[in-house]
This record gives sequence, C-alpha cells and structure tokens, in this order.
Amino acid sequence: MPTAKPTDDNLVSRAWPCVTDIAAEAASGTVTATENVKKALQIIADKNPDIQAIITTTEERALQRALAIDAAIKNGESAGRLAGVPFIAKDNMLAFGADTTAASNMLAGFDAPYQATVIERLEAEGAICVAKANLDAFAHGASTENSDFGVTKNPHDTSTVAGGSSGGSAASVAAGMAPFALGTDTGGSIRQPASFCGVVGYKPTYGLNSRFGVVAMASSTDTIGVLAQSIDDVAIVNDVISGVDPSDGTTINRDTVTYTDYSTSLKGKKIGVIKEYFPKELDPVVAQDVSRHIDKLTELGAEITEVTLPSVAAALATYYIIVPAEVSSNLARHDGQRFQFSAETPSSLQDSYVRSRSEGFGAEAKRRIMMGAHVLSSGYYDAYYNKALLVRTKLIQEFDAVLQDVDFLIGPVAPNPAFKIGENEDPVSMYLQDILTVSVNLTGMPAVSLPLGTTPDGLPIGTQLMAQRNDDRALFGAAQALMEASA
Ligand code: GLN
Repeated sequence: MPTAKPTDDNLVSRAWPCVTDIAAEAASGTVTATENVKKALQIIADKNPDIQAIITTTEERALQRALAIDAAIKNGESAGRLAGVPFIAKDNMLAFGADTTAASNMLAGFDAPYQATVIERLEAEGAICVAKANLDAFAHGASTENSDFGVTKNPHDTSTVAGGSSGGSAASVAAGMAPFALGTDTGGSIRQPASFCGVVGYKPTYGLNSRFGVVAMASSTDTIGVLAQSIDDVAIVNDVISGVDPSDGTTINRDTVTYTDYSTSLKGKKIGVIKEYFPKELDPVVAQDVSRHIDKLTELGAEITEVTLPSVAAALATYYIIVPAEVSSNLARHDGQRFQFSAETPSSLQDSYVRSRSEGFGAEAKRRIMMGAHVLSSGYYDAYYNKALLVRTKLIQEFDAVLQDVDFLIGPVAPNPAFKIGENEDPVSMYLQDILTVSVNLTGMPAVSLPLGTTPDGLPIGTQLMAQRNDDRALFGAAQALMEASA
C-alpha cells in the first residue's frame, strides 16, 4: 500500500477555517451550523473506515442542536462565541447523544446521565459535539492500539499509529473531521498524539480545566486539553472551558484575561533547552528538527540557554508508580454493580466482583491495577509510593528553580515520530514513549506540542514548549511566535 504523504490535500489546515470565522459565518448565516455539522459528519463517514478515529457519532443530537442554533440566529438571538462550531470529544468524556465507553468493554453501552463540565461549557457557547473519539482503553497507552474498538491509524501514514491515548482526537483533527477535539493528558496523551499527527496539542496547567464528568485515570495528573489546527483555536476553546467548577475541587481560579489576547514578542525572553530532553535514545531526525526550531527562537530575539534538570531521569519511573497507584484506586469503582458491564449469572456478590473485573478489563488496565495495588500495599508503600512522592517533590523544586531564571522550556515531545502499528507491543517499550512528556504532568505545568517539522518520509514531528504553572497565556504567545517563524 502506498504511503500517504502529507500533501496539501490531507493537511489539517485546509479542511476548516479558524473557529472564530466558523462562528462568525454561522452567526451571519453565510455557512450555517447545520451545514458545518453535515460537513463534519460527511468527512467522518468518508475517512473513518480507514482511520478509525471515531467510536460513534452523535449525529441525531448534533443535527438537532445545529437546527436549534440556526433558528436562534434567525431570530436575532446571540448564539455564542463558538456558534455552530463542530468538535469531537475523547470518549472518556461524558456527553449526551452517544455512549461513553472510555474505549473499554467495561463501559460499552454506557449512557451518560449528565455531561462533563467542559462539554457543557462548549455547548453554552454554541459549539456542537459531533462524535466521540477513540482512545487507549481508560486512557492507558501511547498508541491507541489498546482500544477495545479498533486501532486508530495515523492519517499521514495508515501503517503507523496515531499516538495515544488521545489518538482518535489527534487523528480526527488531522483528517479534518472537525476543527478541534478535546483530549485528556495524564502523562502525555494530548501532546504525543498531536506530535504524531501534526496538530497543535495543548495540556493546560493542572486544575485549570474541570475534570468533572471525565472518566478518571490518575487524579493528581489528569488534565483536559485541546487539539486543534492553530494556537488561536486552542486559546479560544481554552477560554471557554477553563475556570473554577464547584464539581471539581482541584479547579483553580483562572486568569481574568482572555487567552487569545497573548503577546508574541519573544524579545528578551529566556528559553531553556532541557539537556535531559535530548537523551541518547532520541531519534536523530527528531533531535535535528527540534534544534532547528530552537535556532529560530534566537532569530526572534529570545535568549537560549541550556538548563539541566537531573530528576527528569527519574520522572518516568516516578510516574509509573504514582499513576498506577491512582489508577488502581480510580478503577475500583468498576465492580460490576455500579456501572455498565456485569458478568452473567454470578454465583455470589464476590463472584460477580471477580468475574466482572476479570472479563471487563483488558490486559493493560489489569497490569496497572496490579502495579498500583502492589506499590500501595503495606511493606511496599514506603519503598515505592512514598519514595515516588519524594522524587515528585524534588522534580517540582528543580523545575521551579529553573523557571526562576527562564520564561519557557523547550524540547522534543516524543523520542520518535509515529511508529508502525504493532511495533511496541512490549508494555515497557510503550511506557518509554512517555519519557519526555510525564515531567510536566508530575509538576502540573502547561505545555504544547507544536507541529513544526516532518521526517524525510513525511511524518510529523512535534516540538514541545513548556511554561510555569498558570503561564498558559504566555505559553500561547511564545507558541504562536514559533509557529509563525517556522511556517
Ligand atoms: N502514555 C501514558 C500512559 O500510558 C499517558 C497516558 C495519558 O496521558 N492518559 O500512562
């Protein structure tokens, strides 16, 4: 099969105008919400059989909402900042109009009783969810191969993975199915697939966006973010979804400013290149590409300095103790009684618990539950979990110290471009995909993956820009400057 090259035809930016233009056109009636939803559904119908980015569409509800929005606009009512803009939600987010499965048989057929806060906020501004995106089951993975609903393919080359766990969200935006998608990033799950699929992927400051109504993975690092064609689109969506939510006690007061109102001036800004982000395992093609973009920053007037964060070397091990510990706790609720899947004809309640969990969960969820239960068990708690918490604190202190001296940090997103489907079957080699993404989850910092480069074979390469907690708006400015300079 010929390799699909990222020609103008399948490049993301060709499929949709920017979201403010889509909303303006809907508001003026030039291109209606209904036309937008139909267009998105048509692209999904055409491309999804190959790409498998979508688990289900919300067709009926989406078309109803579009009609209502168009009618409101005709009546002279204001329909919101994102009026008629179609979007795709990762299928671990509770939304009406389709099942919420988290790509696991455990939840197949689950009908959400309420919607996630982020979905509610987008709907309040007139945006329309058209589909639920594929993911690694329960967001465990880095390739979307660990989905009970098929493997998502990379639109740039369908023999390679889309990345994960928000692989469906990234691939759907890359394939032009919608102008933006929501994803979750617990250890890299927005940034890495964004890097593999050539779209912008933004992981916010921890606590900026509510997780209420999102299937919990690891509560101390779970974040909800945006995958889109441009920084402006990410920024306006973030503007709509962010801020305190009484239903998620970890949410923080957001800036009172508008996220789209950023400064792109990098004159006099200091940018730290993280030495540990260029390990020997890094694909030289990725290293060269990211270095090329770092040089661009100098042309923009920024001062580049190399920084060292020694605890980064321990970040992956720390992540794979803390996260499974939280996963084992969060997945305890899937006991065959409260949610969807329940084993048939159990002989007792105990038998139902055991069989529902044995039959409903896949291998990776079970692996994480076992690892998590182990590191939390008496006798091992101090040696693993407590020690990991100490290393996490050390990591936060190191990043905080460095960010006293520099405004932003830069490095690659992933150690390699998209790999072949089936290439990383061994769990540890899959976990190693996360070495360059997990640190910002453990520290709570915001970060973006920017689609700045490609391999000689035409596969996208992302560059990762990071900032101090709550500097999300400044991060957008720096990211936009770099996007423009590298265009
Ligand atoms: N690949 C990482 C993991 O498997 C990240 C997952 C995520 O961010 N949801 O844990």
